[in-house]
Amino acid sequence: MKTTRHKPTSCPECGYTLDSASSPAGFKPKPGDLAICIECYAVSQYGDELALHAFDTALLSPADAAEIRRHVEALQRSKQHA
Ligand SMILES: [Zn+2]
Repeated sequence: MKTTRHKPTSCPECGYTLDSASSPAGFKPKPGDLAICIECYAVSQYGDELALHAFDTALLSPADAAEIRRHVEALQRSKQHA
């Protein structure tokens, strides 16, 4: 798991302040990437300067939606064991 710090931004769904992104594959966040809130698990999208914006998950392909669900479930499991 690689974590990248970025300028603080708020989750568009719950308002939680997020200032880093973690990726099992080591990706660094860039504008256009999707993010999952560690607090409420809402999916949002990075815009300019890595500020998070609301994202409509209905735009996702079924395969991408399934992958997001897997990540959310993994996050929920890791939180339960924290
Ligand atoms: Zn949130």
